[in-house]
Formats: sequence, C-alpha cells, structure tokens
Amino acid sequence: MSNTQPKKILLHTCCGPCLTHVYSVCSSFYDVHVFFYNPNISPRSEYQKRLAEVEYFCTVNSIPVTIAQYNPKEWFNAIKAYRFYGERSERCYACYAFRLEETFRYAREHNYEAVCTTLTVSPYKDAQKINEIGKELSIKYQVEYIESDFKADGGYKHSIELSKQYGMYRQKYCGCIYSKLERKKTSLWSIKMQARQDSKPVAQ
Ligand code: SF4
Repeated sequence: MSNTQPKKILLHTCCGPCLTHVYSVCSSFYDVHVFFYNPNISPRSEYQKRLAEVEYFCTVNSIPVTIAQYNPKEWFNAIKAYRFYGERSERCYACYAFRLEETFRYAREHNYEAVCTTLTVSPYKDAQKINEIGKELSIKYQVEYIESDFKADGGYKHSIELSKQYGMYRQKYCGCIYSKLERKKTSLWSIKMQARQDSKPVAQ
C-alpha cells in the first residue's frame, strides 16, 4: 500500500462559483488550501460578498482557507498604466500577475509544494496568458505551478451548475470598477475608453 501524501497546493481563488468546479477537480489529486487574494474587486461591498461565498464553500467542505489583505491602492498602482485598455488586455495581464505574485510569495513563505489558480475557469480570461505568468513566477519563487484550463471539458458549465446547487451569489462583472463600467457601452467610462482607442495611431 502506498503511503504517498498528496501534494499540498495553494489554490488562488477569485470567487466561490469558480472555486466549486476547480475544487472538485483538484481535490482528487491534491491537498488543497484556498488562498483568497483579490484587491482588484470593487467596490468593497462586492469584495465582501464574494469573500463570503468562498468562506461559506470552504466551511461546508472543511477546506483550509487564507484570506489575504485587501489592498486596492497597490493593485491600482500595478494596473493604472493600462486602465483604458479594456478586458483581455495588458490591464488584465497585469492584474493576473499582481494576484499570482502574492500567491507565490505566500506559497514560498509557507512551504506549499505548488500553486494553482481558479482564474482559468472563466471563458472571459486568457488561460494561455495566465499559464505563462504562472510559469514565470514559478521560476522566480521556485515553487511548482500547475498549469490549467479549467473551463475545458464543460468546466465552466459545471461551475455554474455547482454554484446554483450551493445557492451562491454569481457576480455579473469580472471584478474591477472598470469591468463594471465597461458592461455598459453607453457609460461615460466606455465612451472615454473608446475615444482613447480610436485616437491611437494606426500602424502602417
Ligand atoms: S477585467 Fe478582471 S482581470 Fe481584467 S483588470 Fe479588471 S478585474 Fe482584473
């Protein structure tokens, strides 16, 4: 009989609904510890709502969870140069990197064997870019990164089904204030953003 212990991994978690599916996959292979670090979420009341769903899921399933600091100013400083770029752009890459860097830092400090993230369950996020960032941070912090594309094979649909079963709150925007404003093409923010993009010189 093998007495090999499952690898202890730190799972960066963006929200409860995404966690449902990812945990159902990862817990078959790993000893999963949840890490909630999302200073991108705005406003604070929305942050509290998403956090409450993660805490609820972890309590019901007896999953250890660490709630990291909520430091939106530092997050803003990391992405501000790209704030007008829209979703799935450099703004989001900087946002993924900011959250994953803290996850790796914590994993290294607390001797986790690997890092993974729920971010790739969303069809709105760039899994390839997330994995590239994860691999770079893995080298920097000398902690293994578990590559993923959790939306594949019906993963995203499964997260919706599970979150309904748990009666979870499902957010209607990615997280930052910009993603909230960009949902409305007629918002002042969207108009301003579009004007900036239209005024960029076109490459010949
Ligand atoms: S849209 Fe989402 S991933 Fe992109 S910057 Fe905003 S919160 Fe981050």
